[in-house]
Amino acid sequence: MNSIKFNQKFKDDTDCLSYLSELKWQDGYKCKKCGNDKFCTGKKTNNRRCTTCGYDESPTVGTMFEKIKFPVLIAFHIAFKISTKKKGMSTLELSHEFELRQKTCWGFKLKIQKAMSSSLQHPLTGTIHVGEFVIGGEGQGKKGRGKGLKKLIVLAVEVFENGVGRAYAEVIEHASAKELGAFLRKYVAMDANIITDGWRGYLPLKKEFLNLKQIPSNDGKNFKDLHLHIMNIKGWLRGIHHHCSKERMQNYLDEYHFRYNRRAYMGTIFDVLIKRMAKIEQNAHI
Ligand SMILES: [Zn+2]
Repeated sequence: MNSIKFNQKFKDDTDCLSYLSELKWQDGYKCKKCGNDKFCTGKKTNNRRCTTCGYDESPTVGTMFEKIKFPVLIAFHIAFKISTKKKGMSTLELSHEFELRQKTCWGFKLKIQKAMSSSLQHPLTGTIHVGEFVIGGEGQGKKGRGKGLKKLIVLAVEVFENGVGRAYAEVIEHASAKELGAFLRKYVAMDANIITDGWRGYLPLKKEFLNLKQIPSNDGKNFKDLHLHIMNIKGWLRGIHHHCSKERMQNYLDEYHFRYNRRAYMGTIFDVLIKRMAKIEQNAHI
């Protein structure tokens, strides 16, 4: 969906609520209070009222659009911008563009980022380069795998002969076999060809990941795609997200990779996001 189609489809709150209603009840209606499956129109056009107990439900109940303090049309605009703009939008930019308080934008953007976290249904496959990097804390002593104010991140990227595929990243405390293993189990197929540098944290994982191979980094030359990806993440964070706390870093990484992994499917990325935001109750894991 491009911005022309978006603006044609969503002209006012009713258009948005009608779309939410379609998504929310696409597998059928069931009253939250009594379980009855018959309904009539409720107080508002897109509400559904149970014919037995009379419970009147708005399409926003149980979704990420419930109890927002601004029109649902604005919420759709924000979700559209964040999902389709190459670099997303900072809360400051959102605040200016939609005339909302920055704190309000901050809260809603956090919801969007949570909807953008991986469903964990499609682990990375093929040849995968894995490595860690640090964000923040520059000039605070030695770079690398230590603990401190810096944010340590582990990244996995699918590498093809002529380019890269999808990628996932996660904030970790230590580059230990325990944490690196948990990351790989979560995001990478067990039979993938995993390639890492010589860091000893990966050594014990070879027993479990039979195709895990360690090669020298050669100053990054053997992991060019991985390093380019790291540079892009760092550039993006520096560019529009100046103050990213350690707690929020995972949300930003999820946002980045939600867009990155769908860069070839920009036509449907907004729909995917809205579906996740609408069905958040049913998919509590996302
Ligand atoms: Zn009912």
